[in-house]
Amino acid sequence: MKALLIVDVQNDFCPGGALGVPGGDKVVPVINKLMPLFPLVVASKDWHPKGSVHFKKWPPHCVQGSKGADLHPKLDAGRIHKVFLKGTESRDDGYSAFEATNEDLAEFLKGQGITDLYVAGLATDYCVKASALDADRNGFETFVVEDAVAAVDKKAGDGEKALKEMAHAGVTLIASSEIGKD
Ligand SMILES: [Zn+2]
Repeated sequence: MKALLIVDVQNDFCPGGALGVPGGDKVVPVINKLMPLFPLVVASKDWHPKGSVHFKKWPPHCVQGSKGADLHPKLDAGRIHKVFLKGTESRDDGYSAFEATNEDLAEFLKGQGITDLYVAGLATDYCVKASALDADRNGFETFVVEDAVAAVDKKAGDGEKALKEMAHAGVTLIASSEIGKD
């Protein structure tokens, strides 16, 4: 059975947010279209405490309980079965959804009979990459939906490089138009 993992589609990662990804909000309508094609949809949220060491590398973002940490208002959140919170300690970056601390994502998915995991969201070169590589390591057949992700591109080309790295690790890159109901 397949599931969709929506990574960090939060206000702070969209244009106008504390760490806005260029075109970050463009993934929202694509993801909204994808959700009804999956029997199970889960999401991750970056969920940092104030004063996290993570903010030495990045401008403060997605602080627990803040508006910036909310999911994008246009995301069809009613279809999300469970939200996994990561980066919740002051010492960790929490790039991967598999580092969630409120519940173990791999165990949850396996308990639901999920074998194939499709990854979408933000950002290609950090949390999407870390989540997809961890999904692969955890034994899921892993797909990244190329038109449903966007990159920070701190250095030009980082997003492309990340996609290549994922493909090299065994992750399948797929277009949303190639995904059907089963
Ligand atoms: Zn973060």
